[in-house]
Amino acid sequence: MSARSAQNKERKVLVLPPTRRDGDVTCALLRNAGLECDIVGNARLLASQISTSVGAVVLTDSVVNDPDLCSIVDALERQPPWSDVPVILLSRSESKSPADKGCFEKLTNLTLLDRPTSSRALVSAVEAAIRGRARQYQIRDQLESLQAADTALRESAERMSLGVQVAGLALAEVDYAVSEVHLSAEAARLFGVGDHARSLSKEEFLAVVHIDDRDDVSRRLLQAGDWPCKDPAAIDYRVVWPDGRVRWVSQRHHVVLNGLLQNHARAMIVALDATDRKNADRRKDEFLATLAHELRNPLAPIRTGLQALARPGGEVAAGPMIRSIMERQLSQMVRLIDDLLDVSRISSGKVVLQCDRVDLRAIAELAMEASQPFITAGHHDFQAEIAPEPVWVNGDASRLSQVIINLLNNAAKYTADGGQLRLRLWRTDIHAFVCVQDNGVGIPPNMLDEVFDMFTQVNGTLDRAQGGLGIGLSLVRRMTELHGGEVVAASEGPGRGSTFTVRLPVVGAPETAPALAAPREAPDKPCLRVLAIDDIADVADVLKMLLDLEGFETRVAYSGKAGLDVAKQFSPDVIICDIGLPEMDGHEIARRLRADPQTAPATLIALTGWGTEGEVRRTRESGFDYHLVKPVDSAALLELLSRIQPRVRSELSNGAVGLTADRAADCEAFTGEV
Ligand code: ADP
Repeated sequence: MSARSAQNKERKVLVLPPTRRDGDVTCALLRNAGLECDIVGNARLLASQISTSVGAVVLTDSVVNDPDLCSIVDALERQPPWSDVPVILLSRSESKSPADKGCFEKLTNLTLLDRPTSSRALVSAVEAAIRGRARQYQIRDQLESLQAADTALRESAERMSLGVQVAGLALAEVDYAVSEVHLSAEAARLFGVGDHARSLSKEEFLAVVHIDDRDDVSRRLLQAGDWPCKDPAAIDYRVVWPDGRVRWVSQRHHVVLNGLLQNHARAMIVALDATDRKNADRRKDEFLATLAHELRNPLAPIRTGLQALARPGGEVAAGPMIRSIMERQLSQMVRLIDDLLDVSRISSGKVVLQCDRVDLRAIAELAMEASQPFITAGHHDFQAEIAPEPVWVNGDASRLSQVIINLLNNAAKYTADGGQLRLRLWRTDIHAFVCVQDNGVGIPPNMLDEVFDMFTQVNGTLDRAQGGLGIGLSLVRRMTELHGGEVVAASEGPGRGSTFTVRLPVVGAPETAPALAAPREAPDKPCLRVLAIDDIADVADVLKMLLDLEGFETRVAYSGKAGLDVAKQFSPDVIICDIGLPEMDGHEIARRLRADPQTAPATLIALTGWGTEGEVRRTRESGFDYHLVKPVDSAALLELLSRIQPRVRSELSNGAVGLTADRAADCEAFTGEV
């Protein structure tokens, strides 16, 4: 129904006449006065229309004898509280007032007119009734809008409370007038006070706050002087729970004046449990401190070694020993950094396994070889029990050996000198097992699972961690899981040794055993011209030194621009270029080298500290053929150079450019890191 027709209905006068003629006369009269009017045929019909909406009702005393009179009265009684339909009853003056009769007594808005009545009296009574009825509708509308506002308020309060609950927010309020702090249920939980203690005096509240933070909280929250504050204030502090546990609370509060009592100040508090964040921050700080420490450790012997070499006679007396120490320390740093990179690659799901059917025994042999220096340094007695038959698994050989090396190194590290270490490798029908056992410091039962978490180190073993950052076991677990296996730790407790067992699914033997690769004949060393571009002169110069010693013809440049100039004059076969150069970076250098017909055919090798997949893709897009990550192993670099053919220089003079067949093959062989 449209609003207009609803309004018409609300103003409509319903007439129940004794005769049709009476009805027509009455309606004509009312319509003449501009009133909406309808004749209703009988009492039942009138009753049903009253229960929808109506402006007023006009009856005559003839209705008194109508057996359905009470249905009209019932309908009037069932009206909502705001409604009181006006009834105008035309009654003969000589008859006993029908208003006295039965159900009429119940009517609360009845106007009695003598019959016959004057037109004026009838019209004026009906108009008054309609005006009164209009006010009732106004009240109804106000009630409805109040109800709608109330519902909206309730819904918004529910949403707010749900939001507060989902966000884990605790709400509280300081009432400065009575010096009390009121807590929501969540706040009572956060502050560690029982639900019964949701209103605390200032003193009771301060007693919950950690003693070291009390002055701050008291000054910044409880003695808020400048009311109202312009901006919300934020403080972090500790609270102490009754069982002694300390939790961090991160709070924002705003001091406001109560709307009515302008001198009544309150602080509205929104607080969060910040314990996990604070602990993570602390762990991060500790980690960075350990990292700095562990990176500095290998640098100390390198620097001392260099200083010893510089002393007269130092080179002769201690050269080989110092170089081997430096080599070892450097490897330690490289391993640390590789582990860190692995952690970030695994965390972002970027580790791609190069899986093959591999014999776990060969991998264990490799791992034992790699860990031997650690085992020997600890004077440990080491025994290996390896399955007599091949143990085939589907895996990435270098990743699996990384797993075993980590476990062996840890066993050697966390066992006092002269300990006993054991490695066992066996298989069942479906699984392969590698078990590394030691009789070292052991692991408390509550840490057996936690040691696999990132950056976790058991208290009391830090002095033995020797360059560890607490990431080795986390890598072991994740690498094992990537291979569809699992690793568990066991220990009978501190001082009772530890056992780490890796379980991997086995696969069937390959149909034919892989042929041993024929040893490659060392290729004749080509006489290459190499240009090294790096803004760190030491890096470029040392590289030149190495390449000169290997018989290459080498030039260096310390900036991109100088590099482009040298490249034009020198026509190098290979350009080894840093990426992070000031002014013109390696990508730009590569693009310009490729754009110039004279330098375009050179093989471009990026040598950079960045080794992410994205960075490798970018160097390739800029025109590099290879991407090497610093610090590069000189053997790997020389091996790569040995595969590059010198350019036929007469071609250049003919202006021939483009990739030779060899170069095209090299591009395909581009694997990111060599
Ligand atoms: P890191 O050795 O660098 O500290 P790991 O992730 O390899 O890190 O090991 C985490 C922690 O587990 C170590 O700090 C040490 O407390 C404990 N742990 C690892 N292996 C052993 C072991 N074989 N015996 C006793 N504790 C060990």
